[in-house]
Amino acid sequence: MAPCSRHPDSETSLVCRICSEPCCEECSGIFGICTHCLYKISVVILVVMVIVSYSAWAFLL
Ligand SMILES: [Zn+2]
Ligand SMILES: [Zn+2]
Repeated sequence: MAPCSRHPDSETSLVCRICSEPCCEECSGIFGICTHCLYKISVVILVVMVIVSYSAWAFLL
């Protein structure tokens, strides 16, 4: 087991569910996803929310 790149004290006991990169419990968080994938997902969710809100406005107007 290699130590986490972000937390040298923690071992990479988990694997990211999306990119299969090894990460420690602190990095994986509650979803079992590494911070890099969590960032990517939050960007995707933000884009989807913008598109949905635009189509909602288009429907109302
Ligand atoms: Zn990942
Ligand atoms: Zn970590």
